[in-house]
Amino acid sequence: MKISTNTGGLAATNAYLIADENTGEAAIIDAPQNTVLPLLNVAKHHGWNIRYLLLTHGHWDHTSDHKVVTDAYPDAKVLIHALDEPKLITPGSMIFSLPYKIPPRKADGYLEDGKTIKIGNLEFQIIFTPGHSPGHVVLYCPTESLLIAGDLLFAGAVGRTDLPDSDPAAMEISLQRVAQLPNNTTVRPGHGPPTTIGQEKLSNPFLQSQ
Ligand SMILES: [Zn+2]
Ligand SMILES: [Zn+2]
Repeated sequence: MKISTNTGGLAATNAYLIADENTGEAAIIDAPQNTVLPLLNVAKHHGWNIRYLLLTHGHWDHTSDHKVVTDAYPDAKVLIHALDEPKLITPGSMIFSLPYKIPPRKADGYLEDGKTIKIGNLEFQIIFTPGHSPGHVVLYCPTESLLIAGDLLFAGAVGRTDLPDSDPAAMEISLQRVAQLPNNTTVRPGHGPPTTIGQEKLSNPFLQSQ
């Protein structure tokens, strides 16, 4: 597996390029504004085919560049949990006026709890983790000990639950679910640096009760 990160946009959001270099299949996970093109250039340089844009949730800072992906790779499928698709159909911020427009679109398919997404021979389990947003998911690859965590879990913090579409009680249950993953699982969050499940269970105040 090869993973590349680029961080950008108004909320300093992480976008990831994940590739199975053996098969040449790849996916982009989350699409902050003006942030995805360098990752597509990495894919092009290696001759990788972007099969998917996987969206951890529908907040504007994770979806802005979706058209950049599908313009470069028209066959790439844009997948999100059904409960967050409304924010893809009617994009924008719920709490302030974005200084740019995000093109509206429907999903090509849905990320459902318990299903898996294959990127080449890499299998990612979809774990439904509502709380920060109603249709938030994380992607877990057991063979690579990797969790793409979106805005569920950060190094030393967790995603906001004071947004109009948040649910703090659901967030508690979602954090309990990911706290069950092995301690050596690398966590790649939607904001900030990577961490591990074990590190967060030791030092993240939001995981102390889990
Ligand atoms: Zn968010
Ligand atoms: Zn975010």
